[in-house]
Amino acid sequence: MPEGLTAMDAMQGANSSTVTGNRGLVVEEPLIFEMDSPGKTAVDLPPAPNVDDRLGGLRRKAAVGLPGLSEPEVVRHYTRLSQKNYGIDTGFFPLGSCTMKHNPRLNEKLARLPGFADIHPFQPEQTVQGALELMHELARWLKAMTGMPAVALSPAAGAHGELCGMLAIRQAHEHKGDARKVVLVPESAHGTNPATAALVGYTVKSIPATDDGRVDLDALKAALGPDVAAFMVTNPNTCGLFERDIIAISQAVHDVGAYVYMDGANYNAIMGRVKIADLGVDAMHINLHKTFSTPHGGGGPGSGPTVLSDALAPFAPLPFVVEENGAFRLVEHVKDPACAAAGKHPFGRMKGYHGQFGVFVRALGYMMSMGRDGLKQASDDAVLNANYLYARLSDVLTPSFPAPVMHEALFDDRFLKDTGVSTLDFAKALIDEGFHPMTMYFPLVVHGALLMEPTETESRQTLDVFITAVRHLAEKAKSDADSFKQAPRLTPRRRLDETLAARKPVLRWSPQTEG
Ligand SMILES: *Cc1c(COP(=O)(O)O)cnc(C)c1O
Repeated sequence: MPEGLTAMDAMQGANSSTVTGNRGLVVEEPLIFEMDSPGKTAVDLPPAPNVDDRLGGLRRKAAVGLPGLSEPEVVRHYTRLSQKNYGIDTGFFPLGSCTMKHNPRLNEKLARLPGFADIHPFQPEQTVQGALELMHELARWLKAMTGMPAVALSPAAGAHGELCGMLAIRQAHEHKGDARKVVLVPESAHGTNPATAALVGYTVKSIPATDDGRVDLDALKAALGPDVAAFMVTNPNTCGLFERDIIAISQAVHDVGAYVYMDGANYNAIMGRVKIADLGVDAMHINLHKTFSTPHGGGGPGSGPTVLSDALAPFAPLPFVVEENGAFRLVEHVKDPACAAAGKHPFGRMKGYHGQFGVFVRALGYMMSMGRDGLKQASDDAVLNANYLYARLSDVLTPSFPAPVMHEALFDDRFLKDTGVSTLDFAKALIDEGFHPMTMYFPLVVHGALLMEPTETESRQTLDVFITAVRHLAEKAKSDADSFKQAPRLTPRRRLDETLAARKPVLRWSPQTEG
């Protein structure tokens, strides 16, 4: 807890001087169990008829322990809880590396169409031809956009897509009888990259970054050898920079018989602009939930289709959709004749069933409504907005690397030097100004990082208000460190122990812990 805050202050908002604990119309919300009035109920059920008890030993011996509340109490409780949520629908969410952009409602509507929403993966194929056609069509769009010959739709998130690509790479090496042990990962990679390589059983070796935030090509070349299975590179990278040397990188990696995995989670910055195949990439996942309009960040389903080059396409996982004689069919087994016919040696499968279908619907809806030109425009605008933030904030914050940037602008904490204000304090003060903070302390290649990704869906007006707030705080940090230590002042809760909350979350309520 920051100095100057009492435990009570930390628990309650700054203006906790009200009798009720409510502030303005923001109401203190107890747990539903704490609101319990035994015997109260929202529905009037007639007494149960006298029937023979067939429960035997299964008869409940104690009360269920559900709280008793009236209907209006229940309605208010859950409505207020829903209003405590902060999301992209409530305000600007400049979380770097996360692409928190608006999700057009049209795609939500499509995903909820009964013909899509109410189907089951066990339904006979002839009853879900439309769904299979949608997957086939989505695959076609992804292949056309990236110029890659194959795509595995089933990975359920970005990191899962990385796993898919790395398993295909391992399978390709093993197929050649080549047991390579090492995967090279640059310093500026997303944390999931080395984690994925390690999970697949590889030894991870780090490649340093140059002073301009990119892969050090000479260091990479020096580390390449016959033991290297793959190089994993995030591009645009987590500093918001395009890896200008990517073609030379791919060439050098291929020269030693290794494969290039490109983390495509930041595809929003280059879609419609760059043909991934032209970069020499062998595998890349696309975060449909980031780039192609699925609400994310709240733990909902993601989807990480992985596009594969000619060299890796034969090893793509099951299942995949094929079109035969005008009908669509899922290939689910290695022994399926469609595998042999296409020279495929699938490495297995990524998950049960066929992928995150609801996300597929949204993604294809987004692509079709945007069109080829619209997708390109979206990435152009995302890059423009990031460069606008960069340009308008560079004189008060300290940019880590020279412009231009891609989808996000990276600053470090040099502008806070000797102020006594930390990156964390600065982010907390932004909350009082009505903004969700940017990503903090990531990427690790710079000290005290502040990473902002505005996306294309924010207006000039919104960005200008944000810029005004950040500029004001940067000025204030020079003279009033104490106010930063107190921030946030206006939230229902102040500084919480985030580490403790993540490590030891209290997820159960029991009467013993009441009070
Ligand atoms: C978000 C992200 C990932 C991981 O994606 P998930 O869907 O969260 O698993 C990987 N790499 C980068 C660069 C990302 O931004």
